[in-house]
Amino acid sequence: MTTPLIQETPSGLYCEAGDFYVDPCRSVPKAVITHAHADHARPGSRKYLAAKEGRRVLRNRLGPSAQIEALPYGETTSINGVTLSFHPAGHILGSAQVRIEYQGEVWVVSGDYKTEPDATCAAFEHIRCHTFITESTFGLPIYRWPPQQEIFADINRWWKQCRDDGKPAVLLAYSLGKAQRLIAGVDPAIGPIFCHPTVQQLNEEYRASGVELPKTWLPSQAPARKDWGGVLIVTPPSTANSTWLSKFGDASIAMASGWMLTRQTQRSRSVEIGFPLSDHADWPGLLKAVDETQAENILVMHGQTGPMVQWLNENGKNARTVVTNHVAESL
Ligand SMILES: [Zn+2]
Ligand SMILES: [Zn+2]
Repeated sequence: MTTPLIQETPSGLYCEAGDFYVDPCRSVPKAVITHAHADHARPGSRKYLAAKEGRRVLRNRLGPSAQIEALPYGETTSINGVTLSFHPAGHILGSAQVRIEYQGEVWVVSGDYKTEPDATCAAFEHIRCHTFITESTFGLPIYRWPPQQEIFADINRWWKQCRDDGKPAVLLAYSLGKAQRLIAGVDPAIGPIFCHPTVQQLNEEYRASGVELPKTWLPSQAPARKDWGGVLIVTPPSTANSTWLSKFGDASIAMASGWMLTRQTQRSRSVEIGFPLSDHADWPGLLKAVDETQAENILVMHGQTGPMVQWLNENGKNARTVVTNHVAESL
């Protein structure tokens, strides 16, 4: 049996012909990175190759000393005779699927992706291949996202209600990607938008990368402000019970995440309101993405892979689970 083009190793997905890893979980000589979330872009590797569009956010995450080579979407590079290119994954700014071609065989590693449009990043591109390595974070038929226009209308309605009640509206959202998508999608006419410093720093990287976002402020830029009624505060979930957040007084707390689709998780995260906005594909999105590749082999990773593998095998594909050490960072 010949060695597959990409193998599962303790350090992650490895392409022997090109001698590189994709999103390695350990330090390696050459790491090809799908996107800047910490579970995909880990510090410590000697060299990194990533999509140019996400270079600034990746630099923000990996630090000033990381050696990052950047390749624009759609351009190819050759590594020991292996042709590699990045294609938009629609997940966050600069997120990419990695297309790897060697001796006529094409593999695509999806990384995290969503098929819905997002004003803050390039739209997911369907790529034909022989083998597709897909994520399955929400790989269960119960996961079907409502149209995002409805979710944004709900968020705006909630924010207006907070304003009418004289309360600040706190929106818990993952700092890289989700926060910027929310800021770009809400109605800035309702009130000023304040951000946690981690979010604000990434907003600046997005703006410097050419993404338009409404004006956002750090609370420290409004030192005289005593009344936070009607402001929107975008902050990471980890700050939910922090002293940083308590200075805004009695606030309405909401969270935007795919997991908010069920009441149970809303209760377990002790938020008043959950908006089911995800940066991952839902069940129909995953199946459509898989179908469009026309790949005969599907390798499934992230989350509960079993149901999706079973569904694909029952529907004419050759599917199996990829075993990795992956723990998701952003949902
Ligand atoms: Zn991600
Ligand atoms: Zn991930």
